[in-house]
Order: sequence, then structure tokens, then C-alpha cells
Amino acid sequence: MADIALIGLAVMGQNLVLNMNDHGFVVCVYNRTVSKVDDFLANEAKGTKVIGAHSLQEMVSTLKKPRRIILLVKAGSAVDDFINKLAPLLETGDIIIDGGNSEYRDTTRRCKELQAKGILFVGSGVSGGEEGARYGPSLMPGGAKEAWPHIKTIFQSIAAKVGSGEPCCDWVGEEGAGHFVKMVHNGIEYGDMQLICEAYHLMKDVVGMEHDEMAKVFQEWNKTELDSFLIEITANILKFKDSDGKYLLPKIRDSAGQKGTGKWTAISALEYGVPVTLIGEAVFARCLSSLKDERVQASKVLAGPKATQFSGNKAAFLEDIRKVSPAAALWGTGGAALGLFFVRTGACLQHWALSCAVTFIPGLFLPSVFLGKIKDAFDQNPELQNLLLDDFFKRAVENCQDSWRRVISTGVQIGIPMPCFTTALSFYDGYRHETLPANLIQAQRDYFGAHTYELLSKPGTFIHTNWTGHG
Ligand code: NAP
Repeated sequence: MADIALIGLAVMGQNLVLNMNDHGFVVCVYNRTVSKVDDFLANEAKGTKVIGAHSLQEMVSTLKKPRRIILLVKAGSAVDDFINKLAPLLETGDIIIDGGNSEYRDTTRRCKELQAKGILFVGSGVSGGEEGARYGPSLMPGGAKEAWPHIKTIFQSIAAKVGSGEPCCDWVGEEGAGHFVKMVHNGIEYGDMQLICEAYHLMKDVVGMEHDEMAKVFQEWNKTELDSFLIEITANILKFKDSDGKYLLPKIRDSAGQKGTGKWTAISALEYGVPVTLIGEAVFARCLSSLKDERVQASKVLAGPKATQFSGNKAAFLEDIRKVSPAAALWGTGGAALGLFFVRTGACLQHWALSCAVTFIPGLFLPSVFLGKIKDAFDQNPELQNLLLDDFFKRAVENCQDSWRRVISTGVQIGIPMPCFTTALSFYDGYRHETLPANLIQAQRDYFGAHTYELLSKPGTFIHTNWTGHG
């Protein structure tokens, strides 16, 4: 009998099956295009204990009870289609797990629909891509908590491990909590990727560096506290040459795609009123990049600043970028702090445990030094409102803010777009200001709409002023 079934033999599904097999679990596999089951058994899964099924009925019949079935199919209607086909084949207490990037509200709906049928539904974030799925993903399960004791051993065995073998997987919370956390995780990744792109843009167009020079810089950064997956692959991408011996990167169309998790994060941030401006800007930067044809036209008619030559010290400027771009300040404030701030608030609003804020950290593409520091900060103070208020991150930002301001002012003068560098600094400056100009907004709202305002001296009392003296 099989311990668990997995439906969806694309890249993620195949690797997760092999990972479970390595950890001693017998997995039964099924795929919509059934021929892929036989292909998988004959190739990637050859010599393993993996069982193939050619129908859902056959798959269900091989499973120990309660039955555990993971879906790793394209997010959206494919998940509902499989749930609708599976539900009549299952019994009370059986478990369906959706490991794809589903929208968290869909997961909440599916939890409720299946609960009414006695089936336990779990929506789990799976992070780390193909490599993670194969050798240790970060897993973020949430949904019907009664399912957790039945899947915990499998999930924690196959998950990545940190420290003294602690699995990067714990129960996140009820309903769509797992997919909510995965969504924010992906949103932070959008921010990290855009920040690196802005550093690349500055190196290329302000400092005038060649690809191999930039690759070396990223390689060097990767040997420091900035060591992270995204910095490593950026170095590899920069130095990669096409079959004609020329660098591949400049040949790639500068128009970024997206599948939706960044956009969903930004939408949720707006809904909850949490200023995750960096993730919003990262999504909009991809949108702007995709207006390629419009930008080509605009570039012919819209002028930039007169001076586009950098006249400063290139080595010093590069050091400023190093300090700023992937340094504690931006990773901490721009990406992680805002993201975690957001998760924390979301968790609160949704009655989801604060612990979810740190569960997904090992799956992030943030520098590993900071991962530990983020966890330490929340371990020391579970009520921490924002990482910026933790001593380590506070000092890190203080230490690099002069560089940060120099980089931005140089880029602005030369006309380089830096939406994430700038919005992260604006957030920092806004967050550290006791007084913001929102008193004027309140006065304006009261002036034109009698929306009332609160006096600093009388908190909680809202009054209206007749600003024009007219009756
Ligand atoms: P994918 O390309 O997102 O999906 C392919 C799988 O979905 C195939 O098994 C395919 O079956 C099935 N499928 C597609 N449309 C279907 C439909 N209408 N009805 C039934 N089955 C359908 O595969 P993936 O990249 O391995 O990702 C799987 C899930 O994990 C996705 O939700 C993805 O967003 C998420 N994820 C991916 C990554 C990654 O790095 N790729 C990382 C984390 C999470 P056929 O073979 O029959 O076409």
C-alpha cells in the first residue's frame, strides 16, 4: 500500500515524489496526461518504490487510510477539477493537500466546501523551486488542523533543515493561512529580484561596467554576508555566454512576466492597509517593463536630465551600491521587514498564528546571515512590530543610510529608474518620522467633505470646523 499519492507530474511534482521516496515513503503517482505516469516510472523514478496509477480510482485504492493525496497541478480550475473528481472517491477523514501556488481565498473556500463533505483540506506553500522540491523545500501547510498529525511526519521529513536539524515546516494556521504565507514569500522575492535589477542597472549605466566585471562583483558579494541564492545566480547569469561567444543577458527582451503572487500580495497589502510599498513597486516595475513598445516610442520623445555622465569616484560608488542594494538596510527594511510586518498584520487580522511569519524564512532567497537574524529578532521579541525596531536591523540601516542616500541621489540626477531603492528609503524615512504631513490631509478632508479631524491635544474626539465661514 502507498503512504501518500501525488497528482501532477510536472517539474515540482516529480521532484517532490523522488524526495518522499528518498525518505522511505511509498508514493503512488497520477497525472492528467496519463502517459506521463509511465514515462516517469520508466525514467526519473526507475528503481524507486514509486507506484503508478492510470486512473484516480486505481490511485485511491492503493492508499493507506486516512488517504493522503497531494495535488501539484497548475493553480486555478485544475485544482477544483481534481477536487471534484476525487471527493466522491474519498471517505470522511481523508486528506487532500494542494501544494501549488493557489490564491489563499480559493484555499479558504475549498477548505469550507470539503469540510462539509468530511474531507480534510490542506493548502501548503512549497518553496525552493525544482531543487528545493527534490532535496528539501520550505513547506507552509495550513487548513484543516485535524490533518496535521497525519501529514506532519512526511512533511517534516522531506522539508529543508536548518540549525540542528530543525525542519523548515510547521503548521501555519487555519483555512488559507499556508497559501497566504507563500503568497507573501513570493512577494518578497519580487522585491529582492527588482532590487538586484536596480543594482545591475546602476552598475551598467552609471558606473559603465562590462558583464564580466559585474559578474565578478556579484561573485565577491556572494562570499560576504550577502551570500544568497539570488546573488549567486545573478553572477552566473551575467557571465553566461551564448553559443556565438557573446553574453546572453543583453539579448534577452527587457519585459518581465509574472504569474500573480506578487500582485496578490500587493492587493492584500492595500486591503489590509499595510504599506508594503516595495512589493507594490516591484510588481509595477514588471508592469512598466512589459510596456516595451510604448517605452521604445517614449524613449524617442521624452528627454531625461542633461547630465547623464557620472563624474564621481566609481569604486566608491560601487561600494555604496554594495552597502545598499543587498545590504541589511534594503533586505531588512524593504523586503523582509515590510513583508514580515505584513504577514504579522495579516496573521493578526485573520487570526492566524504569528509563528507563520518565521516558518517560511528558510525558503526565502534572502542572505542567510539575515535569515538567522530575522528569526533571532522574532524569537527575542514575538511581539516585534517591525524588524526595523530590532537592534541588529536598526544598526544595519543606520550604518548604510549615507550610502543609500548617495546612491539614490546619483541615480536620480542621471535619470536611472530605481523604484524599489527609493520606495524603501521613503518607507524608512516615513516610519521614523514622529510627525507626517497627514494633518493637512485631515484638514483638507474636513474642508471639502466635513469628514472631521482629531486634535493632538484631544485624542479620540473628532470635530468639524467651518473653514470658509459660510453657513
Ligand atoms: P505547472 O506547469 O504549473 O502545472 C503542470 C501540471 O498541472 C501538469 O501535471 C499538468 O497536467 C497539470 N494541469 C495543468 N492544467 C490542468 C488542467 N486543466 N487539469 C488537470 N491538470 C492540469 O507545474 P509546476 O511548475 O510543476 O508547478 C506545479 C504547482 O506548483 C503550480 O501551482 C506552481 O505554481 C507551483 N510551484 C511551482 C514552482 C516552480 O518552481 N515551478 C515553485 C513553487 C510552486 P498535464 O501533464 O496533463 O498537462
